[in-house]
Amino acid sequence: MIESPSSMKSGFKSPFAPTEADMYKCVHCGFCLNACPTYLETGLEAESPRGRIALMKAVHEGRLEIGPQVIPHWELCIQCRACEVACPSNVPYGRMMEGARVEINLTVKRPLYVRFARYVGFKWLLPRPKLLRLFGNLIKLYHRTGLRKVARATKLIDVLPGDQRMLDDYLPALKTPFFAAKNQTATPVTGQPRARVALLAGCVMALTNGPTMEATMRVLKRNGVEVIVPAGQGCCGALNVHAGERDSAQDMARRNIDIFLNADVDAVITASGGCGTQMKEYAELLADDSEYTEKAEQFAGMTKDIHEYLVDLGVDPPRGELDLQVTYQDACHLNNTQRISTQPRELLTSIPGLNLLEMKEPAVCCGAGGVFSVMQPEMSGFLRDRKISNVVSSGCDVVASGNPGCVMQMENGLRNADSDIQVKYVVDLLDEAYSKETIS
Ligand code: SF4
Ligand code: SF4
Repeated sequence: MIESPSSMKSGFKSPFAPTEADMYKCVHCGFCLNACPTYLETGLEAESPRGRIALMKAVHEGRLEIGPQVIPHWELCIQCRACEVACPSNVPYGRMMEGARVEINLTVKRPLYVRFARYVGFKWLLPRPKLLRLFGNLIKLYHRTGLRKVARATKLIDVLPGDQRMLDDYLPALKTPFFAAKNQTATPVTGQPRARVALLAGCVMALTNGPTMEATMRVLKRNGVEVIVPAGQGCCGALNVHAGERDSAQDMARRNIDIFLNADVDAVITASGGCGTQMKEYAELLADDSEYTEKAEQFAGMTKDIHEYLVDLGVDPPRGELDLQVTYQDACHLNNTQRISTQPRELLTSIPGLNLLEMKEPAVCCGAGGVFSVMQPEMSGFLRDRKISNVVSSGCDVVASGNPGCVMQMENGLRNADSDIQVKYVVDLLDEAYSKETIS
């Protein structure tokens, strides 16, 4: 007698595990294979969405344990969700892989230093913006005082557990001022505001791209929108969700919902594609919390990516010119999850003088993937080099994006390639064009 899947003893343990209904939506058609960056690089079925779902089914049906035959293939998934766009059966691959990551955490006993680093990063720093800024200041000092050079020259860095040299390579220099949420506002100079919005400061982006956050406020103000950056907000929780740290991510979501719903605004704006995806999925993240289900849905409905918001509002085209050749990199968490791809291009082409060039494979993941670049440096490096080769061959002066992970990854790649192509956010370019209006 053939046993039905539902009568088998599942190898999954948590309520967040991939569900039978989700897994069996996959009809093995393979349309997702050539959309998957890790399959494109390896050509291996186990490194494809279909292969990873087959492994989920095998665990669920008790044919495989969550061990060496399974974990490396799940961990090599960037969670870019390009497979969702290609899938005709609407397989909700993102939430299945998020559940699989929770299962890995429940099964694997990691080395002590890894557990310590994960605890500090996911449960201590990311939920606390002030501590995160303090950590950012320590990184600045590490670069500025020459400590970094000493640690590398004396090989002190190689004595520490894990591949600290590789981690050190990824550490951004954090040269610009940090952005912090402290109830600051930007109000249009004349007339009644067209809308009032709240801005998410974010975690990584607030440290790495503070000036872009200030530019976002100026661009909204220039378009007649009043902006507030409510104090008390925090990280959106996306990095935690991707790493299978759902409990801490839920706490972060509840905190943001409380702060932003009390801000008396028409919309919640984010300048980071990854944060926008997570915030729009708060209802799913808090599905088991009846007190927050409705509030999470309301919050998700109010969340808008900056590009989407400006186009929906009716952007006032800049009159200042930028004589630039620009190509646009589709961040996975704008293109694949929020399906935002035309709006950033529309904003770029609204800038007089700017020529938009399409690169080859603009929507193939650059390999950043939150902490993927640190956890899976080899695959991340392959995808970064593929992206950089496409950026360079486009003939651009500037590559534009809408996500801090992509920006950092491409900056690293272009630096390694000795290229003088600049990486900018779309809002940075808009802001530059607006700033030239007063001069011309
Ligand atoms: S999320 Fe991205 S890397 Fe993972 S299976 Fe889907 S397409 Fe491949
Ligand atoms: S495209 Fe969808 S249904 Fe087809 S193999 Fe991929 S995940 Fe399964």
